[in-house]
Amino acid sequence: MHDDVTREARCFCGGLRLTLKGDPFYVSSCACTRCQRRTGGFFGVTVYVRPEQILERSGETRTFHLTDGSTTFHRCAHCGTSMWWVPDGEDDVIGLAGGCFVGQGLPAPQRMVFTATKHPWVCLPDGLPTFEDAPG
Ligand SMILES: [Zn+2]
Ligand SMILES: [Zn+2]
Repeated sequence: MHDDVTREARCFCGGLRLTLKGDPFYVSSCACTRCQRRTGGFFGVTVYVRPEQILERSGETRTFHLTDGSTTFHRCAHCGTSMWWVPDGEDDVIGLAGGCFVGQGLPAPQRMVFTATKHPWVCLPDGLPTFEDAPG
């Protein structure tokens, strides 16, 4: 855990930015159907941090609720990049989009969940813990 490192996340258009202090406390990848559709990629990578690790934030957001009401997603109001999300009822966890930290040397994911819906040709590192659906 490096508490002194700072990294900047930015959206596709650059209008939405945030500065993260310290390493995330957990990094998870997920191949569920929602993450695939939300990101447009074959899996999502979530960087879990504490709210006090976000030093600065700039830019305009639009928020969206999942239809099941479990998570609020914050997207750039201009380009629509999904940049962070907060599980409803949780005030000490923020999930950040790993892909927004291009070139910032993030720690690798510590697991992949929902591998049951992963494309079979997506290869995972040897020894990565995997779960067919939600972890137990
Ligand atoms: Zn943007
Ligand atoms: Zn997912």
